[in-house]
Amino acid sequence: MRILITNDDGIHADGLKTLERIARALSDDVWVIAPETDQSGASHSLTLSLPLRVRPVAERTYAVRGTPTDCVIMGVRHILDRAPDLVLSGVNRGQNLGDDVTYSGTVAGAMEGTLLGIRSIAFSQCFSKETRDAPHYATGECLGPDLVRRLLAIETPPGTLFNVNFPDRLTSDVRGVKVTRQGRRNPDLVEIEPREDGRGIPYYWIAFRRAPYEFEPETDLKACAEGFVSVTPLRLDLTADGFLDRLSGALA
Ligand code: MN
Repeated sequence: MRILITNDDGIHADGLKTLERIARALSDDVWVIAPETDQSGASHSLTLSLPLRVRPVAERTYAVRGTPTDCVIMGVRHILDRAPDLVLSGVNRGQNLGDDVTYSGTVAGAMEGTLLGIRSIAFSQCFSKETRDAPHYATGECLGPDLVRRLLAIETPPGTLFNVNFPDRLTSDVRGVKVTRQGRRNPDLVEIEPREDGRGIPYYWIAFRRAPYEFEPETDLKACAEGFVSVTPLRLDLTADGFLDRLSGALA
C-alpha cells in the first residue's frame, strides 16, 4: 500500500512525524509532501498566483512552498510515479471539530485526496491550556494504525473522507472510538484582537475565546470532550439535500 502524507502545520511539525510513524506501521511505501511553512487555517485553498517551489528534504520527503491542497496535487500529479492508495493528513496540532472543519488545512488535505479519488483521512490532536506545549501525540501514534486499518476495511461511498480527532488524553485514558456528526461551536467566541505596532499603527489578530459550552449529543465536539476518539464521515458534496424539493417548489 502506497501512502502519501501531508499536513497544514508544516514540514517541521511534531504531528507530521507522528503521522509518519502511523503510516510506517502500515506500509514501507510512505511519501511525505508537506508545506514549507504553517498553513493552519488555509482551508482548501490553492496557490494560483505564485510558483510552487519543491524542496527535497530526504528520501521520499518533500517540502512545498504552498498549501496542503497544493502538496497533495503536487504529490499525486507530479512527484509520485504512481498514485497513492491512501492520503493521510495531520496529525494537526489542535482539534478540528465542528466549524473548524471548514477552516482547516488539515481536513482540506484529505478533501483533495478524496477529490482525486483516493481514500483519505484527516487526523488532529486536541489539546488544552495545560497540554498546549506538549499535546498527547503518543495517543494518536498508538491508536492510529489500527484505526486506519479498520477504516480502510469499510466500503466507503465515493466523495467521502474521515475526520479523526484524538482527545486530549493519554492512550490509557481514552474511553474508545465514537462515530460522530460535525458539531457547531458558539459563533460568539470568535473576535478581533486589536494591537498597536512600534509606530503606533493598529493591527489585528483573529482570536478565539475559550468558554464553557454545552455540546450537542453525538457530535465530534462532545465525543472528544468526553475522552473518545471522534470519527466523522464528511462529504465533499455540500448540497443541502433535505432542502432541494422545497427550494425547487419556491422557485418554480
Ligand atoms: Mn494546523
